Amino acid sequence: MSAPLPADPARWTLCEARDALRRGETSSVALVTALLEAVGRRNRDLGCYLSVDRDDALAQARAADDRRARGGSAPLLGVPVSVKDILNTRGQPCTCGSRILESYRAPYDATAIARLRGAGAVIFGRCNMDEFAMGSSTENSAFGPARNPWDPARVPGGSSGGSAAAVAADLALAALGTDTGGSVRQPASFCGCVGLKPTYGRISRYGLVAYASSLDQIGPVTKRVRDAAALLGVLAGRDPMDSTSVDVAVPDYEAALAGGDGGLRGMRLGLPREYFIDGMDPGVEAAVRAAVGRCRDLGAEIVDVSLPHTKYAVATYYVIATAEASANLARFDGVRYGLRVAGDDPIDQYGRTRAAGFGAEVPRRIILGTYVLSSGYYDAYYLQAQKVRTLIRRDFEQAFARCDAIVSPVAPTAAYRLGENVDDPLKMYLGDIFTVPLNLAGICGISVPCGFTPERMPVGLQIVGPAFREEAVLRAAHAYEQASDWTAQRPDARAGGALP
Ligand code: GLN
Repeated sequence: MSAPLPADPARWTLCEARDALRRGETSSVALVTALLEAVGRRNRDLGCYLSVDRDDALAQARAADDRRARGGSAPLLGVPVSVKDILNTRGQPCTCGSRILESYRAPYDATAIARLRGAGAVIFGRCNMDEFAMGSSTENSAFGPARNPWDPARVPGGSSGGSAAAVAADLALAALGTDTGGSVRQPASFCGCVGLKPTYGRISRYGLVAYASSLDQIGPVTKRVRDAAALLGVLAGRDPMDSTSVDVAVPDYEAALAGGDGGLRGMRLGLPREYFIDGMDPGVEAAVRAAVGRCRDLGAEIVDVSLPHTKYAVATYYVIATAEASANLARFDGVRYGLRVAGDDPIDQYGRTRAAGFGAEVPRRIILGTYVLSSGYYDAYYLQAQKVRTLIRRDFEQAFARCDAIVSPVAPTAAYRLGENVDDPLKMYLGDIFTVPLNLAGICGISVPCGFTPERMPVGLQIVGPAFREEAVLRAAHAYEQASDWTAQRPDARAGGALP
């Protein structure tokens, strides 16, 4: 017998809500109403959502309930899912955390949104984020930071910090984020949630506002591993609108969890010696090492592996990501989307619009990206970075010859205080050391809660798999989760102020 569900449906997991709906024990309207109440109580303090369209959410919920009443069914019928404010959702804002898109309304649905709708889900609020997904703390949002529900003086991580804070604080059942260099896994780790970065090409990027197109992937942020499996099953698959989406069969990810806490038995887990670095928070290292020990107790064989090019990953990432961003963000020129500041001529208008519309981090990266692509520097920086990217991918290929998955920390620290790193971009970038290698290699990984620091901030264990081996990563994470109770622990719901 499983434990009874909490009285407040906002506290349920995605799969608990889905199953309660199927059993007729609740309605989509009840779920959406509970979330709206939670948002009303706490969003002003936590900054999880940039907008919530109450009428639209309730209308979707009523339609889902009507459909079920008429005998209809669908995998996520009536289940509310929140979305990072970077995925185009027809008729809704899509600010990307930027003033430049403050007035923009999306004219179409991203494929991920269309697939959620196709599965019957209710598309709920728009989650806060670092401007154009550039950042690791959500402090780069033009609309104010999101805060960590475990300690509101601390950051929730980023760039999908609003998604993770909403899930952790029970202001969402589950949320979509995007991960270009760790932006799903790191905020999940900081907030005590599960965050899955699928293989590059596993989920269509059509309708996702591009940051770095060769690195970007959409991924779920959830309360449990099972929820991530359920969402991936809906989102994954080839899409003719994104030529980089890959035609690989989509397995039944939830069925892959059937082994429960036996899922790690016989699995070879690689422990990369380069991933326990000087300067790492001892509380994080202790939690991760204890989690690896737990995996061994559960029947995994721990093998030593080496990823020798890890030390170049952050530099390589910040060359490639900024180069691609400098091209992708050229479209925000005051002509086609959002903000327009008039100028004396078109060039003057572009300059004025971009100066008024972008915060500090975006131009920093555009300038860096333009520099590494300019003639004279292209070979020294961009081309060199592409070569090192290949070496990083080979590191993983060689390691996966010796193991089924790799285990590591998600980040060298737990959540830090707001303001602590804002004036030191380099320090902020170095926090991405364990997450960016996966994006450079195009492979998949998950962050699953594995304990707390002595300050009681959550710590995540990263489980990394080869391309298109999400089942293995989910099975391992689920087994660990079943044998520990970290994901069941919630930040206490200190009552916040009401929305104005
Ligand atoms: N922190 C990294 C960056 O700022 C990753 C962001 C992301 O994954 N979107 O680029």
